Amino acid sequence: MSKLLLPTSTAGSLPKPSWLAEPEKLWSPWKLEGDALTEAKQDALLVSLQEQLAANLDIVSDGEQTRQHFVTTFIEHLQGVDFNQRETVRIRNRYDASVPSVVGAVSRPNSVFVEDAKFLRAHTDKPIKWALPGPMTMIDTLYDGYYKSREKLAWEFAKILNEEAKELEAAGVDIIQFDEPAFNVFFDEVNDWGVATLERAIEGLSCQTAVHICYGYGIKANTDWKKTLGSEWRQYEESFPKLQQSKIDIVSLECQNSHVPMELIELIRGKTVMVGAIDVATNTIETPEEVAQTLRRALDFVDADKLYPSTNCGMAPLPRQVARGKLHALSAGAKIVRDELLGK
Ligand SMILES: [Zn+2]
Repeated sequence: MSKLLLPTSTAGSLPKPSWLAEPEKLWSPWKLEGDALTEAKQDALLVSLQEQLAANLDIVSDGEQTRQHFVTTFIEHLQGVDFNQRETVRIRNRYDASVPSVVGAVSRPNSVFVEDAKFLRAHTDKPIKWALPGPMTMIDTLYDGYYKSREKLAWEFAKILNEEAKELEAAGVDIIQFDEPAFNVFFDEVNDWGVATLERAIEGLSCQTAVHICYGYGIKANTDWKKTLGSEWRQYEESFPKLQQSKIDIVSLECQNSHVPMELIELIRGKTVMVGAIDVATNTIETPEEVAQTLRRALDFVDADKLYPSTNCGMAPLPRQVARGKLHALSAGAKIVRDELLGK
């Protein structure tokens, strides 16, 4: 990994080109199939990589171009889950969704993203970050009629994620990130077994590991939920003490335009912090100075060598030109603060 101060990256997803999937939509259906789809996904991955390089991002990703959804696509590759047998459940206590059912023991017959990761690795020398769903967020997106225990199923998924993570590491991934928006909702479970299952997922890895905890994409169900959270969002206060004690290297969180009190970052002192300095719930593009202001405020609670400027969440649902503008703002804002720190 580079020793560059304030290395920039995104939380993960970037918009897909309109020839691959319908834009500005979650779970957007693919526009192609078969070999043509495989090729188109790879082309989109390369475009997404170029967008990140053109914006001077320091840590790049696949932009999640080969997946329809950050949780569902991973689960689709597992055995023991029936996508035809659907039940309606409440996701993160927020909205109802028709979800697949766990009908037998879950397992991962083949790797899920390893070929994609090798493809990305072959096209860049920059450090790469790969996102996987976290165990708790996975169980929260399913109906379980087999294990009948959220905790048991989470431990099974943690084992499976660990297998995938080890193969991603061998493929040359520098940072493996687990997306756990559910950590902002189920506080008792986070402390009882959520962080423990996350640690199971990173067991034996020597690459860097991250957990991304956010308030979600800028979709209506999430923005409606945020309106109920009051003027101060203190959700991180519940999971940070346990995460500070955990073996996870990096915590990725939401800060820009957020009601999260910045001082909560103090609770994970010692960890590397991916500070969300780009709001993904608005099409307004931040100015570099606005990004710089957020990073400066974060510097009161995280040492400069442990601050990684990032986005609040994935940018998949945004218009492409907006996401592009935000990538450039992130990188320009980080440069302002980097130059200040270096006395330039
Ligand atoms: Zn997120």
